[in-house]
Amino acid sequence: MADQSKANFDAIVVGSGASGGWAAKRLSEAGLQVAMLEAGRPQSDENFTEHTPAFELKYRDRAPEVIRKTRPIQKDCYACMEYNYDWFANDLEEPYTTPDKMPFSWQGRMRITGGRTNVWGRQSYRLSDLDFKAASHDGYGEDWPLSYKDLAPYYDIVEEYVGITGISEGVYELPDGKFHPPMGLTCAETLLRHRVKEKFGRTLTLGRSANLTQSINGRAPCHYCGPCERGCRTHSYFNSAFTTVADALATGRCTHIPNAMVYKVLMDADRNRARGVLYIDRITREPKEVHGRAVVLCAQALESVRILFNSANSQYPAGLANSSGFLGHYLMDHITGGGASGQLEGLPGKPNLNGPNRPDGIYVIRFRNTHNGPRSKEFLRGYGFQGGGGADFNWGAPGFGAAFKKAMLEPVTYIGLGGFGECLARRENYVEIDRNRVDAFGIPVLNIHMSYGDNEMAMVKDMAASAVEMLEAAGAKHIQSWVHPSAPGWAIHEVGIARMGNDPKKSVLNQFQQSHDVKNLWVMDGAGFTSTACQNPTLTIMALCVRSCDYLLSEMKKGNV
Ligand SMILES: Cc1cc2nc3c(=O)[nH]c(=O)nc-3n(C[C@H](O)[C@H](O)[C@H](O)COP(=O)(O)OP(=O)(O)OC[C@H]3O[C@@H](n4cnc5c(N)ncnc54)[C@H](O)[C@@H]3O)c2cc1C
Ligand code: SF4
Repeated sequence: MADQSKANFDAIVVGSGASGGWAAKRLSEAGLQVAMLEAGRPQSDENFTEHTPAFELKYRDRAPEVIRKTRPIQKDCYACMEYNYDWFANDLEEPYTTPDKMPFSWQGRMRITGGRTNVWGRQSYRLSDLDFKAASHDGYGEDWPLSYKDLAPYYDIVEEYVGITGISEGVYELPDGKFHPPMGLTCAETLLRHRVKEKFGRTLTLGRSANLTQSINGRAPCHYCGPCERGCRTHSYFNSAFTTVADALATGRCTHIPNAMVYKVLMDADRNRARGVLYIDRITREPKEVHGRAVVLCAQALESVRILFNSANSQYPAGLANSSGFLGHYLMDHITGGGASGQLEGLPGKPNLNGPNRPDGIYVIRFRNTHNGPRSKEFLRGYGFQGGGGADFNWGAPGFGAAFKKAMLEPVTYIGLGGFGECLARRENYVEIDRNRVDAFGIPVLNIHMSYGDNEMAMVKDMAASAVEMLEAAGAKHIQSWVHPSAPGWAIHEVGIARMGNDPKKSVLNQFQQSHDVKNLWVMDGAGFTSTACQNPTLTIMALCVRSCDYLLSEMKKGNV
């Protein structure tokens, strides 16, 4: 590869995942010369193994301890397996630290083009004004500096390109979008949908998932093989590697620089402008520079903020773009660990080991502290449920021999719901640089301080109770509930720490994710979230990114950047 050290670009995009892919596409399609730096190696269809049986693998995908040798944290992620573990960061090379008794599981650190979208669960939900204006609703925290109507056209753009299967429901708390025809619900899910609507007025819908049910842009509809986290040769789920990044590269104006671990943003102190980035080449370990008119960080919230802290200089001693002192504060991740499961009887359906395997589940839309509903006395904000149900083999049948085989083949219909709850933005949940530790590339690492508070704990209890009452309403038997609050990081939805706001004294970014302090610096991943809502964040990350790119382009046209 040609040395890009001396090159000058219009925009430098750091990261190629959900946000970086969109930034590279939007900016290069508008005519800009873009450098897209990615810490990982290039992705290719040849790495995809969705149809490879486990018996073809050396350890049959049954030796997690082998993966844990190099990825003790990454293996906590359900999607990290023998098939794909080399897409994940090596935890020994790229550590982070936490205080004693304050665990944070930083899973899903991908080091490959496409970032987390290679392995994500694809659940894609809009936020509503109940989320953007949550502080006005209940008095806690800060409103976002934008509202639903500002983002709605960008949700449209992203959904139409990504391709999301879903059902329109007309519920204020979860605005409808541009959906592909829905994948079907099972009989169990349909029964539960009707019963919870009748009894509680709650809406259970198909999970809104980034899996195609009709072809778009040369991508085929999903054929229900199931394990999307191992890749997809028909490109039927959304992965930046073969969608946004491919489009950016097709313009001929985007230069992909893989294996580029960005260390810091370089500044032109006299003009108070970013002039490029310094990165470490993962292969040669050489430091290199790339220069450009605008710098756009899309490295995932924690990584982007790490870059900003590591870019501290005499003008910004507490971290670049941190005149407010808010950089690194208000870390959020959804709380999980409350729910219930049970069995339904008398429903048709036969299990089959060979599929079809619908790569999607169900979603119960937030029903606590709603727009016009009653307020909970126990907690602020709300949660949604993900889950699913259908016929399966009776794996837990008692006995042995022929009787066991027979019993196991008697289908059982399982149904389960697990909550994802909003995490309140609290200043004491923060990250900083650990001055005593560097990664394998010599880059100082993050020290992450996060714990959940009473509000999240109360919510998890309520998740279990409300899941039980809904399963009971559907007539489920053998119901088991759980209240095991997850440690922070386990929802893999980290957002915040460079929050957006109108007041530069109380926020790091404006509503277009542009730094208040450095006018040609943007952070377009989830770092800008002012609150976390309870919906999965990535659709909103992508919509915000497209909106912010359009603003960047207009600022460039005006000569402001
Ligand atoms: C298993 C799993 C399931 C998930 N399920 C869902 C879901 O159902 N719905 C949902 O909304 N979200 C889900 N998420 C979260 C979702 O994937 C992320 O919100 C989203 O991908 C974040 O986009 P991003 O652009 O900020 O970061 P990423 O997509 O992670 O991309 C960041 C990229 O930046 C690169 N990078 C990092 N540091 C540097 C550096 N210093 N220099 C250069 N490059 C760097 C990384 O290598 C990576 O490729 C899931 C995540 C995982 C891991
Ligand atoms: S389930 Fe669908 S989207 Fe997922 S890998 Fe298979 S074909 Fe691709």
